[in-house]
Parts: sequence; C-alpha cells; structure tokens
Amino acid sequence: MERCDVAVIGAGAVGLAVALELSKRYKSIVVFEKEDSFGRHTSSRNSETVHSGIYYPHGSLKAKLSLHGNGLLYSFMRDNNVSFNNCGKYIIASSKDEIPEIERLFANGIKNGVPGVRIAQGSEIEEREPQVRALSGVHVPTAGIMNSYELMKRFETLAKENGVLFAYRTCVSGIERKNGIYGICSDDGYTISADIVVNCAGLFSDKVAALAGIDTESSGYSLSFCKGEYYKSYNVRSMNMLIYPVPSPDGKSLGIHNRLFTDGTVAFGPNAYYMEQNIPDYSMNDSNKKEFLYSLSLFMKPDISDIYPYDCGIRPKLQREGEKFRDFVIKNEAESGLKNFINLIGIESPGLTSCLAIAEYVSGIII
Ligand SMILES: Cc1cc2nc3c(=O)[nH]c(=O)nc-3n(C[C@H](O)[C@H](O)[C@H](O)COP(=O)(O)OP(=O)(O)OC[C@H]3O[C@@H](n4cnc5c(N)ncnc54)[C@H](O)[C@@H]3O)c2cc1C
Repeated sequence: MERCDVAVIGAGAVGLAVALELSKRYKSIVVFEKEDSFGRHTSSRNSETVHSGIYYPHGSLKAKLSLHGNGLLYSFMRDNNVSFNNCGKYIIASSKDEIPEIERLFANGIKNGVPGVRIAQGSEIEEREPQVRALSGVHVPTAGIMNSYELMKRFETLAKENGVLFAYRTCVSGIERKNGIYGICSDDGYTISADIVVNCAGLFSDKVAALAGIDTESSGYSLSFCKGEYYKSYNVRSMNMLIYPVPSPDGKSLGIHNRLFTDGTVAFGPNAYYMEQNIPDYSMNDSNKKEFLYSLSLFMKPDISDIYPYDCGIRPKLQREGEKFRDFVIKNEAESGLKNFINLIGIESPGLTSCLAIAEYVSGIII
C-alpha cells in the first residue's frame, strides 16, 4: 500500500486551498477527487462574491474566517493574476419596515470589525447604481467579485509545483483506521494510507464522515441540500456595484441579488429552496420564475420580465428547514478516537471567500 502524509478528499476551492497550505508543511499530499477535474460542484456554481463578514453572528467561524479570508483572498488574487473587482456592495432597504434590519446589519458589521461599513442614503445608492430603487442601505466597501475558475486553477498549479498529487476520477468509498494510520479506499480498488485526512467533500462531506465511522445524525453533521438558481436578463447588461436585499429572515440565504461577472455581464439570484432528496440535480425549475421576478421587482427599476434561466448551485446546509443559524463545522475528530481526521462540514457561503482562511485554520488544528 502506498503511503502519504495527508489525504485531502475533494478538489473544490476549499480542498485545493487546504492542499496548497499543507504543502508548505508536508512532503506527500494526495488530493482525491471523484470528478474529471477540480471545482465541478459548489465552487463553480455560486455568486463569486468576495464577502466581508458583516452578516454572521459575532465570534462565529463564518464571521472570523470570512473577515480574515477577505483580506487573504484579495492579496492572493492580486499576487497571482486572478481576475477580481473590489467593487463594494450596498445591502439595501426597499421598504420602511426593512430599515431596522439595515441598522442591525450595520451594528453587526462594526462589532465584527468589517472595515469601512457605513449607512448610506437611498439617493446615494440610486446615483451610484441608477437601475436600483432603495430607501437606504449599508455600504460595504470590502465586498467584491472574483473569478473562481482562475482562483482554483492557480491553487492547483501552485499545489502541483509543491509536489501535491491529484487523483481525479477517484471516488473515496471506504476509510479505515489501523494502528493510527488511515487507509483510504477508492471505488476502483485503489488504497493509500495517510497520517492525516482532511474531508473537504462539500455536498458529500457528511457521507465521507460516515465512511470513517462517525454517526452523522448524533454528531449533527447531516446535510440538507438547498438549491439556488440564477437568471440573466436581456435588458440589464452592466452594473457597477453589488446590490443585496436584506437577508431572508429564515436564514436560508442572503436574498436574490445581482451577480456581477468579471467580464462585466450580470445575472440575478440565487433563490433558495430545500430539495426533497440529497441528489446533486443541477436542472433549473421554471416554476420558481414568478416568485423570482417579484423579489427582483422590489429593487430593480428596469423591466426585468425578460429573464431566462442561467445556472444553479446547491448549498450543503447543516441548518434544516425552519432551524436557526448553523456555523461551519471544522473539527479535528481526535476526541472521537480519530486523531487528525479533520471534518469540514456545512461549508456553504461564505466558504469561497473564506477558503484561504479555512486552510490556515485546518493547518492550525492538526495535532
Ligand atoms: C448558490 C450559491 C451561492 C454561493 N455564493 C457564494 C459567494 O458569493 N461567496 C462565497 O464566499 N461563497 C458562496 N457560496 C458558497 C461556496 O460556493 C462554497 O462554500 C464553496 O464553494 C465550498 O467549496 P468546497 O470545496 O467545500 O466544496 P465543493 O466545491 O463542492 O467541492 C467538494 C468536492 O469534493 C468532491 N467529492 C465529494 N465526495 C467525494 C468522494 N467521496 N471522493 C472524492 N471526491 C469527492 C466533489 O466532487 C467536489 O469536487 C455559494 C454557494 C451556493 C450554492
């Protein structure tokens, strides 16, 4: 059986960032990825917003890692020629009853240490973004957009230069622990042993944790799939700033906003609905279009009835329908007898923003 120091399961943005970070410390690292290449799931099906850390409860991993990750990500992208635009964002109130939520978000941003947040008048927002209607909002200057494909490609290239091996088309189907060493088995019969295992399997991370013998129900690790769809509009071709509504009160999502691409085009989304089964079905459901249009009409001035389906992603949610906030799980399972088996579960938004900070955090909890 071949031997390595670290096995990383999953080559999304998080698994790639973890492999790159650990390649500074460990000589032999293998990344297992069941698809043909990196980033075929959530990491390439999202809004590509660089978040600031304004939304999340003070002290949570989501708050800390997105705040720290924001700075790490911009500086990595600057140094590595990854396309991005630190365009900033307004979270806006479209009606009077949303103004207290704007004030709460502003106060939360200050508490979380988000740089430069301030309350903005509706007139300022409408001047900066003429296609939008707003009563007031919070200006978040550290928010922006990025190109996730270029980011992941750069992570993969740098990791390979540091000696990381990538096993694509290799689905991990069994994990056993003997004499303190993990045996990682793939469904084509290949087995490799590793001292450290990092589970970055995204939507399937609860299944991978179960392979190692963890009871995902009693640990609170079971995931629910929550879909988010994007539409494009023929009428709206360019916008300057990210515009987000106040987040949905059920905590399911940050609300339908404009998604700006680094080439200047615009989409809208994502909506949020729980799927009946945990199956990665990326088809678009047109029956949501009417509700989608209604949400958009609350803050967009132009006629946007011409929207057409664009793409969708699926959130790996720890929070079940009707439940309150759940934080990222990033845990060394040593207490459960699985020393240096590190689970990353429920890495939904702001996981992309946080990927480099998550990688540092993972490195810090290896014993
Ligand atoms: C609609 C939507 C919008 C979002 N918007 C944003 C945003 O604007 N900003 C932001 O910061 N975050 C956003 N996110 C969250 C962000 O996209 C994720 O947090 C991030 O991409 C998660 O990356 P990951 O590497 O953990 O997972 P993934 O990208 O899903 O990667 C996991 C990988 O593991 C592989 N894998 C799974 N099981 C196995 C196995 N058994 N063996 C081998 N390989 C396996 C999969 O094939 C996959 O490639 C959004 C998410 C969604 C769904």
